[in-house]
Amino acid sequence: MILDFHTHCFPDKIAAKAVEKLSFASGGLTPYTDGTVSRLRERMAEDGVDRSVVLSIATNAHQQKSVNDFAASINGKEGVIAFGSVYPYAEDALDELERIKDLGLKGVKLHPDYQRFSVEEDRWKPLYEKISSLGLITVFHAGWDIGFPPPYGATPEKMEKALSWFSSPVVAAHWGGCGCAESVLKHLCGKNVYFDTSFGYGQMPKPFAQEILNRHGTKRMLFGTDTPWHTAEMELRLLNSLELTEEEKQDVLWNNGAALLGINQTN
Ligand SMILES: [Zn+2]
Repeated sequence: MILDFHTHCFPDKIAAKAVEKLSFASGGLTPYTDGTVSRLRERMAEDGVDRSVVLSIATNAHQQKSVNDFAASINGKEGVIAFGSVYPYAEDALDELERIKDLGLKGVKLHPDYQRFSVEEDRWKPLYEKISSLGLITVFHAGWDIGFPPPYGATPEKMEKALSWFSSPVVAAHWGGCGCAESVLKHLCGKNVYFDTSFGYGQMPKPFAQEILNRHGTKRMLFGTDTPWHTAEMELRLLNSLELTEEEKQDVLWNNGAALLGINQTN
């Protein structure tokens, strides 16, 4: 069984435009789907992925409700588990978190660079405490984002500080921090945080990936791809090149994520 903890898709009407825009902003990345939910599902079938967590980001206050309504509309159907998002600066961000919970979504995605904030600032403490009180999972984009210049909002140093304000599960995407492997080892390995493996193939140097696994352990690693920007096939190639027992691999591919989301093979 494979659970992909990091994918993206968009409402059909805007998918093509959104993918083109994001690709351009990120230096011309090749998209491996057209950004629609139906194409994500086709890819899942092709690559043997059983469940996918779809992550969306509210990049302004007005977008929050439509982003979360879209997430709710696809959540729990045909292998898709959708997370919501709030715009941290929105006046109604805390209320929207309650709506996210009421909609039955299990988590939120925050992207400090697209949302123009820095994760370690004291002003976000109430937001993190609200998320924690609702028991929502938070996935942070972590490390560099190839579409933005530094400074980055979720470096491992900053994430280390932010983590102390959470009492619900936190995922630092991209092996704990895209482009920041040395700081991930220094600031996050061994801490109470999950890493997803998304966008690692061809980006994360193999020795660092192995060292992160060795130091962080495999119980808080979640398989992820960042579809449409990478595929499960690509990320499996990286994972299969690392030293992992079959049991450890199953933990990363399915068990850890399923336990976190409270799902089993039939629901
Ligand atoms: Zn992503």
